[in-house]
Amino acid sequence: MREQTPYHKGTPELDKSVGLEAQSNPRALRGQAIAQMAGAIYKDQERYRVHSQTRDWFYTVTPHETGWTCSCPDFLKRGVLECKHIFAVQFSLQIRETVKVEREKRETVIEQFNASSCLHCGSPSLKKFGVRHNKDGNIQRFQCLTCAKTFSVNIGFERMKHNPKAITSAMTLYFNGESLRNVAESLALIGAKVSHQTIHNWIAKYSALMSKYVEKLVPSVGDTWRADEIYIKFKGDMRYLFALMDDETRYWIAQDVAGSKEIVDARVLFRKGQTAMGKKPKVLITDGLKAYQEACQREWWTMKKETRTRHIRHITMKGEHNNNKMERLNGEIRDREKVMRGLKNEGTPILKGYQIFHNYLRPHEGLNGRTPAEACGIQVQGDNKLQTLIQNASLSNRKFTLAEGNR
Ligand SMILES: [Zn+2]
Ligand SMILES: [Zn+2]
Repeated sequence: MREQTPYHKGTPELDKSVGLEAQSNPRALRGQAIAQMAGAIYKDQERYRVHSQTRDWFYTVTPHETGWTCSCPDFLKRGVLECKHIFAVQFSLQIRETVKVEREKRETVIEQFNASSCLHCGSPSLKKFGVRHNKDGNIQRFQCLTCAKTFSVNIGFERMKHNPKAITSAMTLYFNGESLRNVAESLALIGAKVSHQTIHNWIAKYSALMSKYVEKLVPSVGDTWRADEIYIKFKGDMRYLFALMDDETRYWIAQDVAGSKEIVDARVLFRKGQTAMGKKPKVLITDGLKAYQEACQREWWTMKKETRTRHIRHITMKGEHNNNKMERLNGEIRDREKVMRGLKNEGTPILKGYQIFHNYLRPHEGLNGRTPAEACGIQVQGDNKLQTLIQNASLSNRKFTLAEGNR
């Protein structure tokens, strides 16, 4: 037997029956229509903003332990248990759930390479083939018994004086906010004597290498993006780092360093984002900066309303940061900056390194401890994910070179 009011379960959890029941309830039907409109709903902290069907205005739908509330007159004055906005949020959560399942089906796995099979032919029959010494350890070489070729699992670190563990530890410490001096001191404790300059060179080298590789990966980002800009110092010169991020997965989509906050700079950022993701957002959330509004119009405005990107300039409520997801990124780089006293130059690949750490290596509280890349269906395997990324980046560049050479 079905209940008389199947929509109101007294909890804010996703009501799976809502889609089936929609036909019989006009509010549910209107809610469904809102949910299917581009940019009509977006999540703001723990609440949802739902666009009014009649006015250019957003209502606030809030989940509570006892059920949902809405700020619209229908809910407040007429006392209906579930207005069309609440239905709209429920439908949109259902759509999101379906998209998430689809996303997980298309998962990309970035594998770790180890000495269990031949790098050239995949054969598992191997024998040890001498060692190479470096400053903080030995690198084992192997020979394949099937194809007779030799290899080491030192992929990406071939001509380095130090081993992968020392290098990846140094990078991890650095991107987690340690100064180059502190990184050097930590390495000395594990027996690796390295200068600040060498560590800086590692970080720049591997950030550039990985950056080329991750550009080829296609993360499944959502349709609501956020843009923001922060100040960065380069040898005393102020520059803006523009960043574009996916709202749902926190994936850092694109970055651009510019000397001003002009329209043209925001347009460069939007183009980079669209090129990288192969699509444009349905909704763009930004702060009040006018350049975003104009750049969004010029890049993403279309005649047809359905394909037009809806731009939301966030409204600041008393005592809260509506753009708090960006605030977190600001924290990541600003904390760093205090320690570092300015990056060397604005072309530095180290800024890309931040983006890679943010996306692929740093677990996010808001994603239940997953990384943004994992939330986008990209898994990096191995205990040392940074090493896995470097291995794959190195092999990917090599294959390209080989293919070029064979022509
Ligand atoms: Zn409402
Ligand atoms: Zn082989």
